Amino acid sequence: MKTEIIAVGTELLLGQIANTNAQFLSSELAAAGFHVYHHTAVGDNSQRLRSVMEHAASRSDCIILTGGLGPTKDDLTKETAAEYIGTTLAYHAESLEAIIEHYKKTGKEMSENNKKQALVIEGSFVLPNDKGMAPGMIACHDGKVWMLLPGPPSEMKHMFQTYGLPKLLETGRREPVKSRVLRFFGIGESMLETKIADLIEHQSNPTIAPLAGEHEVTLRLSARFSIDAEAKKALDEAEKKILERVGEFYYGHGESTLEAMLLESLIQSSATVSAAESLTGGWFGKALTDAAGASKAFSGSAVVYNNEMKQRMLGVKPETLEQFGAVSPECAAEMAEGIRSLTGTSYGISFTGAAGPDSDGSAAPGTVYVGIASSAGTKVLSLQLAGSRSRIRALTVKHGMFALWQ
Ligand code: ATP
Ligand code: MG
Repeated sequence: MKTEIIAVGTELLLGQIANTNAQFLSSELAAAGFHVYHHTAVGDNSQRLRSVMEHAASRSDCIILTGGLGPTKDDLTKETAAEYIGTTLAYHAESLEAIIEHYKKTGKEMSENNKKQALVIEGSFVLPNDKGMAPGMIACHDGKVWMLLPGPPSEMKHMFQTYGLPKLLETGRREPVKSRVLRFFGIGESMLETKIADLIEHQSNPTIAPLAGEHEVTLRLSARFSIDAEAKKALDEAEKKILERVGEFYYGHGESTLEAMLLESLIQSSATVSAAESLTGGWFGKALTDAAGASKAFSGSAVVYNNEMKQRMLGVKPETLEQFGAVSPECAAEMAEGIRSLTGTSYGISFTGAAGPDSDGSAAPGTVYVGIASSAGTKVLSLQLAGSRSRIRALTVKHGMFALWQ
């Protein structure tokens, strides 16, 4: 872990005091296995401190600042750090209480300024000050760890050894990989990769890696951060950017399968589905019932393979079959409506098409229609799929589930 120390205080620059804080911290950090690469001293000037902080962030993982946590006007380390991180200061209740208590005990009058010492960076980890007033803090930002310690050496040393270093050891050097898998359907791996090529290229934490799954594509995002919340934030940001480009194909996280997502959404909206399967021969029903709890939303599938079954069971009109054939949007629509009225489910879904490998003369292999009937009407999905008979059938099932899920 690349570490550096910034000592804040104009008295250091004027040669009035020696920077013994940096010396102490360096020897402690080296002994604890941290690599200290830079020491900087900067005056009590917020602009120059800001620029030193920016420089430090560009080259180090852990930045330790000492000085400037006190109550006076020239103490501006916390304010500058909060501004840099993009957050604000908030009162730390326990520190404020301790300060009030201290003034009560000593009988001295407490000024508004003294309260200021209890301000900490919002969301930071507070390091108690057993030897003085102003607490220290550890804040994480952009994968960097920032530790703020008071200037007076006795306060700084005790705080660092008792609270700062242990916390740093606990959080600072672990950088476990946190991964997130995003699942997509209806887009090929190469197309997905093309659409987010620049993100993949410019993104190093998290990294983005496409993986082709069975008829689906997944993206694995892997982040390495010492702080879990930082990893989550980075993953959320990367996910947002990705979904802005290819959100229409996204259906779930992690291990969630299309069938599980579909069932979950049906159950949530108290909806049910039944299927009329010609092309898929029962595959849709098999896939849905692979997921536990399917009976809550799935009524059943009818395998209606030949035209006679389609007519007898689902009421597909002979004229439809004659005029358009079984592999047609018209037939898909009537099949979906037929199974829905037979079972009384919220949705009826149908699958008809030519799986090949040989053409039956009326429809080219890969021509597929998926009908979805509901109270809102009937829609038909026209697909032209490629590949083996089994690939065409498997993809059809997935297309049906994805369309129903949407
Ligand atoms: P205070 O509450 O005392 O104001 P602070 O956190 O604001 O503490 P500073 O005001 O920067 O810290 O420094 C307080 C005193 O601590 C300095 O006058 C000096 O004696 C000592 N000090 C500060 N920085 C260092 C340093 N880098 N090395 C050694 N001593 C230091
Ligand atoms: Mg001070």
